[in-house]
Amino acid sequence: MGFVPTMGALHEGHLSLVRAAKSKCDIVAASIFVNPTQFGPKEDFAKYPRTFERDCELLKNEGVDFLFAPSAEEMYPKEAVTWVTVEGLSDKLCGRSRPGHFRGVTTVVSKLFHILEPDVAFFGQKDAVQLVLIRRMVRDLNMPVEIVGCPIVRDADGLAMSSRNAYLSAEERKSATVLNRTLKEIRQRFDQGERSSARLLSAGMEIFQQETGARLDYLEIVDPETLDPLSAVQGNALVALAAYVGTTRLIDNLTLMA
Ligand code: AMP
Repeated sequence: MGFVPTMGALHEGHLSLVRAAKSKCDIVAASIFVNPTQFGPKEDFAKYPRTFERDCELLKNEGVDFLFAPSAEEMYPKEAVTWVTVEGLSDKLCGRSRPGHFRGVTTVVSKLFHILEPDVAFFGQKDAVQLVLIRRMVRDLNMPVEIVGCPIVRDADGLAMSSRNAYLSAEERKSATVLNRTLKEIRQRFDQGERSSARLLSAGMEIFQQETGARLDYLEIVDPETLDPLSAVQGNALVALAAYVGTTRLIDNLTLMA
């Protein structure tokens, strides 16, 4: 059984995971659960897009066999005090800007794995840091599930698909393309032979700063296992970017292989 966990408001990125699951597994299950514990008190839990009927249609059309869409009350017993935390990693990158976020993610994914007992679970490289933490959790806790990472699906303008793109005005949507443009600049410099992280990052920042409609949260080049900053790209490196466009927080990333 393959499993695709989501928070709903489905788009082609989610459906690419479903298709990967369909091609590898006999039975495919998906979940839709807007997980309250991964949202901070000032974040967008209440207004997070919810399009349940449409999501059900999309999943049905893709041939998903089973949908798990629990309520928060079903998922979290009253006064639950048990958490899964990937120590040392959960407070890096997005975890630094969103305290408690990854604790919520790894806890809910553990619970979903226990409830559904999938053989294989599919996650998007779009949330690269999340994928690193989930792989680590599965390894550290001997969870009997194979984790498959799937490539980032983008819109024609290069913007990585995200349920949160629905928040963007037409003007913000244009500004939001700066995330991918910044990463593409870094990719190009890397392809031309640049290996210094500082120089790659400053080339990216030159592009980013030309866009006045976006505010940087972080841009880092890190080791894809430890998430620690790298001074130079020698093996695999993750270039991770988070930025605010208006009040919407967006993320994107790129993997470099020297
Ligand atoms: P979410 O509903 O945002 O929690 O995402 C559910 C799953 O879909 C996660 O594994 C995400 O990484 C993945 N996902 C979201 N957007 C994309 C995308 N643009 N390309 C590939 N996977 C994605």
